[in-house]
Amino acid sequence: MIKSIELVKGVGPKIKSILNQEGIYSTYDLILYVPKNYENFSVQSIHDLQHDKVVTIKGIVSSNIENIKKKVLMSKFKLNVEKNEITVITFNRRYLQKSISIGKEILVKGKYNVFKNEIVASNITTIIDTPEIKPIYGILGIPDSKIHAIIEEIYKEKLVDIYNLVPDELIHKYHMLDRSKVYQLLHFPKSNHDIFLARETLKKEEAFFHLLKYNIERIPRYKRDPIPYDINLVKSYIEKLPFELTHDQKHATNDIFKDFKFNQQMYRLIQGDVGSGKTMVSFIAALGALSAGYQVAFMAPTEILIQQHYESFKEIFNDINTACLTSNSKNKEDIIENVKNGSIKMIFGTHILSNPVVEYKKLGLVIIDEQHKFGVEQRENLIKKSLTKDTIYLTATPIPRSLALTFFNELDISSIKEKPSERKSVLTKIIHRNDFDLIMNLIKENQALLNQTLIVAPQIEKSENLYSVLELYEKFKDEFNDHLYVVHGKLHDDEIQRTFNDFIKDEKGILISTTIIEVGMNLKDATLLFIMDAHQFGLSTLHQLRGRIGRGSKSGICYLVSDKDSERLQYLKDNYDGFKLSEYDLKLRGPGIFSNMIQTGFQGFKYLDLTNDFNLLKSMHEDVLYYAQNIEKFPRLKKEITYKMV
Ligand code: ADP
Ligand code: MG
Repeated sequence: MIKSIELVKGVGPKIKSILNQEGIYSTYDLILYVPKNYENFSVQSIHDLQHDKVVTIKGIVSSNIENIKKKVLMSKFKLNVEKNEITVITFNRRYLQKSISIGKEILVKGKYNVFKNEIVASNITTIIDTPEIKPIYGILGIPDSKIHAIIEEIYKEKLVDIYNLVPDELIHKYHMLDRSKVYQLLHFPKSNHDIFLARETLKKEEAFFHLLKYNIERIPRYKRDPIPYDINLVKSYIEKLPFELTHDQKHATNDIFKDFKFNQQMYRLIQGDVGSGKTMVSFIAALGALSAGYQVAFMAPTEILIQQHYESFKEIFNDINTACLTSNSKNKEDIIENVKNGSIKMIFGTHILSNPVVEYKKLGLVIIDEQHKFGVEQRENLIKKSLTKDTIYLTATPIPRSLALTFFNELDISSIKEKPSERKSVLTKIIHRNDFDLIMNLIKENQALLNQTLIVAPQIEKSENLYSVLELYEKFKDEFNDHLYVVHGKLHDDEIQRTFNDFIKDEKGILISTTIIEVGMNLKDATLLFIMDAHQFGLSTLHQLRGRIGRGSKSGICYLVSDKDSERLQYLKDNYDGFKLSEYDLKLRGPGIFSNMIQTGFQGFKYLDLTNDFNLLKSMHEDVLYYAQNIEKFPRLKKEITYKMV
């Protein structure tokens, strides 16, 4: 039973209209309107008081009130608390004398100063009429006490029924309180523990509905006919490769060709460290789609990166009609025309590929590198143009398994853990940020050996106490002038490309940059890397940066320049497995750091906190799946979900 709010005693037209403005129309709405906060009057022992903290104490007034009039009225009196005397000071309380006098037992809440043995009181109340914990509703125009009285009336007269929403079975399994109990505790808590208990249940309820909605809203795979690829043609290309595919590469390739054979869209993530050979696997997938007569689009987040992918593809598969399109391409119109008429089969490009100006004759497979660098819209706009909707995402930031199960279950995942044997792992060292002479000397030695150096800084311009690209340039320019190159995100793409090309040709080159070099760039001859203020970066980013060097015949050394967060950096120093590093970051910093990789409602939780409650979500996941798959059998849940989706 639910009643209109104005039917409750004490709710007149004025209060009704204010409540309506808050979205409260019924008794049920008001019960669900939980206090924004609580004023806590639970009394502390004098031995627990901390300096400069807000405390609540109980005592007996032991002196007269002394009023001192300065700019404002200050009142002062002594309070006997557990046989100790504390001075209480309060401001602008003209009528204090009327309510308290010597011998009266009172509660005082305020900031405690241990040196003066004094409390500056914000609240003084006589004990009889104060509950220990007072809910704060904060509705403008209605005092909290009035709201409280209305809610009391609703409970007393039984003007509302509150049913459990989460199925009973899970209420038991997850030790949840009944929902009616939860709201009672929130409106009339006897202790902080009551509030804690109620919120625990609300968390679980929120987790349940989040997972239910997530699983119901998942877009079903698009149905298409199997892709009639020509396996012999694909094999003939693979045989021409100058190397044997690794075991994991073969495995991922098999996954993909199985997807092709299936009667619905491929939707697959290939994850693996930089240099593990993901791109090569996606190229082989492209051959499959091409051999079936489809065009293939390969999208990457930066111009430099897409140019590199384009060139390595062209070099190996030189008989396929291929082009690279970015907003700066000189022959843009021609390329767009040839994509449209179908003479270009394999098209590389930046986000421009998702733009409506680029039309395709017969687009099949879409490959998106570093998918988390794109917005959902950009990805979807490109996929929409494909006739088959086949999609491969590539990422060097592996998604921890636990996270994948809970939040990425619409994606199939292939992992490449084993690296092509020629890859050397990069020796990693940690040095202090003030060790600038050492950095100088290392660079000079490196130049003497005709090796290139990369220096990455967390920001472009100086702010706070962190290294910046421009500051480093200033520091180095006298010493290394001709060999110094600077790139960062504020420069135009053309300029980045030009600087970058110049750097590659300079065998003594030093490139100072932001993390724009993070994504997949192939810098074959750089052997020395400094990551300035390394603690500023996530482990996955650091690991990817470190993968930028030592890619040629020479091995590389990475210096993490930092004096903070040493445990995390130490872990990176000792571990070269991107999957392990991802798990470690998940444990240490919570799943929030992966949120840019996650499409579905990770944000906006009211009670859940991903860092602490991730295990709850994980453990509930399978139970919820059953209800999501059988939602038609649970009309009340279905109704609740529909309501929550609006
Ligand atoms: P990723 O995309 O994972 O960073 P790539 O596919 O770009 O890795 O491969 C990195 C480099 O290793 C490329 O130069 C590629 O040609 C080469 N490569 C790929 N697979 C192998 C392999 N099985 N054996 C040797 N080299 C390989
Ligand atoms: Mg790559």
